[in-house]
Amino acid sequence: MNNLLKVENLKQRFDLHSDFLDKIKFKNGKFSFVNKRVKAVNGVNFSIKKGEVFGLVGESGCGKSTTAKTIIKLYEPESGKIIFNGEDISNYNYKEMLPVRRNIQMIFQDPYASLNPRQRLQDIIMEPMLFHDIVSDRKEAYAKMLDIIEKVGLRREHAYRFPHQFSGGQRQRIGIARSLAVEPEFIIADEPVSALDVSIQAQILNILMDLKEEFHFSYLFIAHDLSVVKHISDRLGVMYLGFLVEKGNKEKIFSDPQHPYTKALFSAVPTIDGANLDEIIELEGQVPDPVNLPQGCCFHSRCPYSMPICEEERPELVEIEEDHMVACHLL
Ligand code: SF4
Repeated sequence: MNNLLKVENLKQRFDLHSDFLDKIKFKNGKFSFVNKRVKAVNGVNFSIKKGEVFGLVGESGCGKSTTAKTIIKLYEPESGKIIFNGEDISNYNYKEMLPVRRNIQMIFQDPYASLNPRQRLQDIIMEPMLFHDIVSDRKEAYAKMLDIIEKVGLRREHAYRFPHQFSGGQRQRIGIARSLAVEPEFIIADEPVSALDVSIQAQILNILMDLKEEFHFSYLFIAHDLSVVKHISDRLGVMYLGFLVEKGNKEKIFSDPQHPYTKALFSAVPTIDGANLDEIIELEGQVPDPVNLPQGCCFHSRCPYSMPICEEERPELVEIEEDHMVACHLL
């Protein structure tokens, strides 16, 4: 299978101070220049093949969503490469991104916030089709819209309703339908089920899986719930403080996690027969400040196995078996 997306050494930084005057501070009778930056994504590498689902997991604030929004260039990358379908889109401007954005759709955690409250469902779905010339006229758009909303489990009469007239699960179905409208190859699903009831979560996940089978989509699937990621992903990346600490084949990581942070994440998942891990790691303390990244391993302040070298040298991702990479000095 060919790579659909390749992300190379992607970095993202945000200024904490909004403008120049905000950066000038007066202290002890002196002016000084302060330029604090949040280091949100720190040299991330991964690739996604055609038809593959790559799950990205980690605690809130670890840089998963920022990585996704940088890939689709809602944020300009600080550095690194984003290669989509063989094209380096890292430096594409707004106009150059338009055809690419048609091909990369995003499903958000809060579908209500991403829907225009003044548009009926039919217009929400038909407008992008007409804008991107997917259909030749409104008649064709209308027929295609009805077909799509039925595919995601909505009924024909829903076409005339406004977003506030739907439940949370139905709104997420609208978000999925809107993505389908422009026939993308790649979908970024950013915590698409985390705001939904468990029973509705299963329905939405099944729709996403069915659509993958039918249209051969690739997904970047972001979640903090490991059971969700286990259900849907083929491969997995574990993020901590903007770094990928473990990545590879899902089965290998779930059956034999190697990085202490991955083990800690898995330890936190309750299982019926008790955790099937050799060791249970309970995380203590706080995630370090992303403005002042720690030297050495990003996880050393919370790692029960931390050694002197961990505070000095940042471990690189190394392959420990085929399609299984880990960044840890223990290995
Ligand atoms: Fe722990 Fe050291 Fe491995 Fe980091 S490199 S996860 S601190 S053992």
